[in-house]
Amino acid sequence: MVVYSGKAKDVIEVDDESVQIVFRDSISAFDGIKKEELTDKGKINCLISSKLFEILNEYGFETHFIRQMSDTELLCKRVEILPIEVVCRNYSAGSLCKRYGLEKGLEFKVPLIEFFVKDDKLHDPLITSEVAISLSMIEKKEAILLEAITRAVNEALRKVFESISLTLVDFKLEFGKTSNGRIVIADEISADTMRLWEKESGEIKDKDRYRQDLGDVIIHYQDIKERLEQVKSIPPLNLKSSVRVIIKLKDSVLDPAGEVTLRSLKRKEYENIEDVRLGKSSFLLFSETPSFALQEKIEKISKDILSNPLIENHSFEIYFGSDKLQV
Ligand code: UDP
Repeated sequence: MVVYSGKAKDVIEVDDESVQIVFRDSISAFDGIKKEELTDKGKINCLISSKLFEILNEYGFETHFIRQMSDTELLCKRVEILPIEVVCRNYSAGSLCKRYGLEKGLEFKVPLIEFFVKDDKLHDPLITSEVAISLSMIEKKEAILLEAITRAVNEALRKVFESISLTLVDFKLEFGKTSNGRIVIADEISADTMRLWEKESGEIKDKDRYRQDLGDVIIHYQDIKERLEQVKSIPPLNLKSSVRVIIKLKDSVLDPAGEVTLRSLKRKEYENIEDVRLGKSSFLLFSETPSFALQEKIEKISKDILSNPLIENHSFEIYFGSDKLQV
């Protein structure tokens, strides 16, 4: 039974836990206004997606990908897709240039992360994470995790594409929730969902060839596929996650040290201060990529080791890389 039919893929139910994703030859742009059938496009994007998911799984990312079933079909975990698309950009291009009047090809020192609402009728509007949280599209914890995972995926895919002389300009990720509530990378990662430029010449290799009527779409997609097939082992990468855990006394618990600090501040003429509660922060550095599993691990460490749940509350944030440890 087809459970979902999109612009370029169909999703067929296999059982309660898994689905089959079928890549069609359809290609479309500008919210489906421009569309066409391109022979072999489904097959090529299916293989690109399959290869990239295999690579991500090997780096330790949690994805919905199980295995490739045929030329045009992937077996994947059944998930509920989150209503947010996460875009990561290393260079300016596409809608970002239009929105801010930027020239194409500016490199960002720190890759940009943007959230978009997954809704064709609204033309996938840009949304801040604050608004997405406020409108209950995602939880705060999820927004933080999606950003950290996307940054880590960028680091990994940038390296992979660099090894086959391609520049990863930008890409879009979608995430899904499995039946037991785990967040995994989902949908497709293909020449339709990223921008790739030839490293030396800057020649466009991705869906912009179709959007901009540059021709030879399939020739370039095929070339990406063939280069990816040459990647026999993943480039070594030291993916790290840093975590800040904040422990606070519960509101109902007396904090004598906080009270002493408050009195001392008042004596020093900091009059407009009403309350002081002392807490503690822990900074942890993990040699693994951000993931739902890491989130679970930190939840356990915070509860069992870093805090005393009888009298303390905890919260934490996961970042990709080790930079945030220096704050
Ligand atoms: N993208 C996508 N699906 C979308 C919107 C964007 O896969 O619905 C990809 C797009 O191919 C590009 C990146 O996300 O690699 C950033 O796209 P951008 O916001 O620049 O939008 P576009 O110019 O594609 O409209």
